[in-house]
Amino acid sequence: MKYNRILLKLSGEALMGQQQYGIDAVRLMQYAEEIKTAAATGTQVAVVIGGGNIFRGVQAEAFGLDRVQGDYMGMLATVINSMALQSALEKLDVNTRLLSGVTIQRVCEPYIRRRALRHLEKGRVVIFGAGIGSPYFTTDSAASLRAIEIEADVVLKGTRVDGIYTADPEKDPTATRYPEITFDEVMEKNLNVMDMTAFTLCKENNLPIIVFDMNKPGNLQRLIEGETVGTRVSMNGSKAPKLEPKHSALQPSLTTPTEQA
Ligand code: UDP
Repeated sequence: MKYNRILLKLSGEALMGQQQYGIDAVRLMQYAEEIKTAAATGTQVAVVIGGGNIFRGVQAEAFGLDRVQGDYMGMLATVINSMALQSALEKLDVNTRLLSGVTIQRVCEPYIRRRALRHLEKGRVVIFGAGIGSPYFTTDSAASLRAIEIEADVVLKGTRVDGIYTADPEKDPTATRYPEITFDEVMEKNLNVMDMTAFTLCKENNLPIIVFDMNKPGNLQRLIEGETVGTRVSMNGSKAPKLEPKHSALQPSLTTPTEQA
């Protein structure tokens, strides 16, 4: 497999399927199947899922609510989606752990980096809920930050378009897709890949991002097997050197009994 460890980012909106709001059961199971197949390759899989299908902090002001309160509502929305995905994966006999950036003791584990690494090493699919646990951020930022913390080889941003285009392909029929692009080119051309905080985190830590169509069955597996799918954003574009695995196994002697659980 091309990658030892990936972080898959899914938007909350994608979970709506054809609906206007909430979670589409068929779409949810479809994503769970894709993740199961990816994890079965032996690649370690971490997932961050958004909450836009339920609530976004920016909506709060329209409701006359406080923005920070709205952001926490958004974070809780991501926990709801994460719980749904966890259940769907468990239905398919995939071992999972949900780690939350906001402590919700009865529902999921708190986010502790070493625990996340331990779970991944044991082959469990790790879902990071509640973003980074702070308002004024997005789940794209959470995806970048967690990916850097767990030393993932790549952020795979699953969307409903098959990559990054010169213009919006839904509006401009002449738009063409980049197979590879550099971080600098994305910024120069003002292309919309992730919000700037999330994007800068990846750029500064030399963490490649691949934007791909998650709704096309098999795409995730093809990516993991090293096929060119979607658009890859990296420091050097097509000249990027192949990344060596960076992470080493945690030394059991350094972990506490709870971390080994
Ligand atoms: N959010 C936040 N901090 C985080 C992650 C998320 O405050 O670290 C809130 C924010 O209000 C955001 C909402 O949670 O709008 C849902 O996440 P996001 O909009 O990223 O979901 P997506 O667009 O991927 O569905």
